[in-house]
Amino acid sequence: MKEFNVIEDFFKAKSIQRKDVIIGIGDDGAVTRIPQGQALVTTTDTLLSGVHFLADTPAHAIAQKAMAVNLSDLAAMGAEPAWISLSLSLPTVDVNWLQAFSNGLQEHAEYYNVQLIGGDTVQGPLAITITAQGFVPFDQALTRSKAKPGDSVYVTGSLGDAGLGLHIAQKKCVVNNQFHQEFLLNRLNYPTPRLLVGTSLRRIASACIDISDGLVSDIKHILNASQCGATIHVDKLPMSQALIESVSSSEAIDYALSAGDDYELLFTVSEEQKGQLETTLANANVHATYIGQLNGNAGKLDLRQADKPFEYNTKGYEHF
Ligand SMILES: [Mg+2]
Repeated sequence: MKEFNVIEDFFKAKSIQRKDVIIGIGDDGAVTRIPQGQALVTTTDTLLSGVHFLADTPAHAIAQKAMAVNLSDLAAMGAEPAWISLSLSLPTVDVNWLQAFSNGLQEHAEYYNVQLIGGDTVQGPLAITITAQGFVPFDQALTRSKAKPGDSVYVTGSLGDAGLGLHIAQKKCVVNNQFHQEFLLNRLNYPTPRLLVGTSLRRIASACIDISDGLVSDIKHILNASQCGATIHVDKLPMSQALIESVSSSEAIDYALSAGDDYELLFTVSEEQKGQLETTLANANVHATYIGQLNGNAGKLDLRQADKPFEYNTKGYEHF
């Protein structure tokens, strides 16, 4: 590990330069500038080999996923990303792996206008920790705790794709349609952080969270923090053609309810803000699906299918 200063050798030269970075990689710490009127949002996520990604996942995909899951948390806060720092635990210094990893990181950094401002490497089991920081105007951060009974519940994109993608990657199931298989594996390996939706929802959503562990697990964070209950209609859950055509309808619902890793946003909107929501989503050219309503039964999740109680089997989906 000594022969390389991994962060400087593999990442510094490629890093984009933002004007708000006074001192980046290469000193004892980074020095950055926060714009006036903005608050700083900070989030950290670790991806561990064999736990959060399969050991044979390409380095390029690991880098982009590690970044995307962090940016997804910023999106859920309504924040615009600015900087990341990287901590890498590597079993060995594999130059090809590092090159592919740093290319993947670099592509996302350019696309999202995020600068890598520092990092560290240690020898150990393969694990990637990224800390992402971004800005949100004071008092406009989206949280989990301000939803109210009567608010409508929405999700972006489609649910369950990454879950089925994982089962394909693990060879636990086979999808014969090549296009569907590729789409589902891409949804697993290359999640899209919903940053534009997140910033568009400032002052519109009463609460917001990104779905990393599955809809049922993640909506409970909002229900607990906001002291609300929810009625969710499983027949309204947005699903991709690839998911619908690859598994039975009950399996598809299972994936959509409990599979994680889709990194879609789940958010709530009061009756008064609904008109504003429609305009905003149309302007941002994004789609969100209404899936249910909040009520006063604090912490309770009521799943319905064709307006009848839906039997939910928690064992339906296993992450690894
Ligand atoms: Mg999150």
